[in-house]
Amino acid sequence: MSGIVIIGAGQAGASLAAKLRTLGYEGAVTMIGAEQQPPYQRPPLSKDYLLGKMELERLFLRASSFWEEQNVTLRLGQRVVGIDPAAKTVAFDGETIAYDHLALTTGSVPRRLPAAIGGELQGVYTVRTLADVDAMEPEFREGRRLLIVGGGYIGLEAAAVAAKLGLKVTLVEAAPRILQRVASPETSDYFRKLHHSHGVELIEGVGLERLLGSPRVTGAKLADGREVEADFVILGIGITPDTALAEAAGLEIENGIRTDEFGRTSDASIWAAGDCASFPWKGGRIRLESVGNAIDQAEVIAENMLGAEKPYAAKPWFWSDQYDTHLQIAGLNTGYDRIVTRRGEDGAMSFWYYKGDELLAVDAMNDARAYMVGKRLIEMGKNPDPAAVADPETNLKALLK
Ligand code: ADP
Repeated sequence: MSGIVIIGAGQAGASLAAKLRTLGYEGAVTMIGAEQQPPYQRPPLSKDYLLGKMELERLFLRASSFWEEQNVTLRLGQRVVGIDPAAKTVAFDGETIAYDHLALTTGSVPRRLPAAIGGELQGVYTVRTLADVDAMEPEFREGRRLLIVGGGYIGLEAAAVAAKLGLKVTLVEAAPRILQRVASPETSDYFRKLHHSHGVELIEGVGLERLLGSPRVTGAKLADGREVEADFVILGIGITPDTALAEAAGLEIENGIRTDEFGRTSDASIWAAGDCASFPWKGGRIRLESVGNAIDQAEVIAENMLGAEKPYAAKPWFWSDQYDTHLQIAGLNTGYDRIVTRRGEDGAMSFWYYKGDELLAVDAMNDARAYMVGKRLIEMGKNPDPAAVADPETNLKALLK
């Protein structure tokens, strides 16, 4: 009896294991994770957990008794070293176990800077695991100087936490504007103003030449020759899908582990879900870095492992918290040619991304209704008149009819 083996005990792996049991699968389920902790939520790591407002216990996706009750074997603190697709086995820690189906939910690894430009100095952190965040926690003391490299959501969320705790924060972004990869100039402007109002210095359009100091970081030299002093540094320069095992096993890789619409890799018994997997989307192929995707894709894979042949229809959504702004994003804005701005009550605001007449995505700042309606419209394939969206008198819910 072999059963199902899951490599990676993050959100996707946990959702997959739980779903298999919900679906009535009674075979063996073994989940192997390199980290010491049972599956936990990552998004709070750069938000409330870093701020010290969230207990460790609340990070865990399930009580530890859940895994026992569900008869899911967790092998934590163990790293798989190889997959043999012909023999249908995985090897770890001197042990080899067999599978009928194998799931790769290996996630992603934070990009680091090369050691040659100071990437390995003491006091340089990334934000990905609980261990990462616990390691940097003692650095977060009022008055200290933090340099953040990268103005994506990770960098900006860390900046917001640090500013709230009274640190002096400088953030450098190599691209012309923060959030350039993922959002419109309007959204970038919103968050730039928000950070300025909390005293964060944002340096955009300037790359990092190198981090300074030895053995501990003391600051950075920027591409324009400027020097910034810092007591510690956080890197928020993106993540790369963790495809190492898949590559070594000879699976097809294309911006992540390549899967078909069912979540199957180029080997019929191996599946992939979450940050590590790319899948067909609107005639192309995408990879999503989000909890929503990890859950939904993993659950579809659970069904398909048991024979459902159900295509995965992604419904992208994301969120970020910075200061008192709760940002919710529905859809994917790739290819947009127009932004429609809607202002709600009490500072609520939303940006609606259109491509021609088609509504692609919505960024909603403290506007749960705009998010909810936008998400429904996108999922229904409905394209509201931009003038109606922009008109504050329009009752958004009426657009759903
Ligand atoms: P994350 O999930 O870490 O926020 P993103 O890819 O969304 O990832 O954002 C990373 C940001 O870091 C991008 O805006 C990118 O332009 C920026 N970046 C990458 N490398 C550097 C660098 N060496 N110096 C400054 N900014 C960088």
